[in-house]
Amino acid sequence: MTTSDSGYVPARVLKFQLGFLLEGTRGQVSETELDIPRLRVAEDVTVDFLRGKLRFIRTGRGILVQGTLHTGIFLECRRCLTETPVALEIALEELYVFQPRTAEEFTIDEDGVLDLAPLLRQEIILETPITVLCKPDCLGLCPECGHNLNEGACQCQVEAVDPRLAALRALRDRLSGASE
Ligand SMILES: [Zn+2]
Ligand SMILES: [Zn+2]
Repeated sequence: MTTSDSGYVPARVLKFQLGFLLEGTRGQVSETELDIPRLRVAEDVTVDFLRGKLRFIRTGRGILVQGTLHTGIFLECRRCLTETPVALEIALEELYVFQPRTAEEFTIDEDGVLDLAPLLRQEIILETPITVLCKPDCLGLCPECGHNLNEGACQCQVEAVDPRLAALRALRDRLSGASE
């Protein structure tokens, strides 16, 4: 399998030549197993891996795609912005038709090529959570200096104290200064 310059497998691996199924009879089934590393599904969607079984079933109007795919994406933790792996399960059940009646329908072209990429892109976007945490108790970033507090405290935390305490500390400093 070749990878592009970006290190991602190009989306064309999601094009399946199913001409033999088109020439077959209704109910005929073809199965394939996917195990693809770092894949560019679309211009705006990349995944860390894509695995699972697909079934293509010849129907009267086209080819029904069924399957459950497992994939992994990376999202920024909403508190600390660290890239966080997120596992998604994508259940597919979609009819690719020969002749679409509406613009929304997925189509299989005359050469028998079924492009899974647009369907997969749509399903991945639907399944992608709006926000994610790198861990349930993520401490986030320091609002002052941007330090990732999961890696330990920053100077700001030591200095950011209650203003009343700050006044006391200033007084203490003055007194200790006076006693020297
Ligand atoms: Zn985090
Ligand atoms: Zn800080």
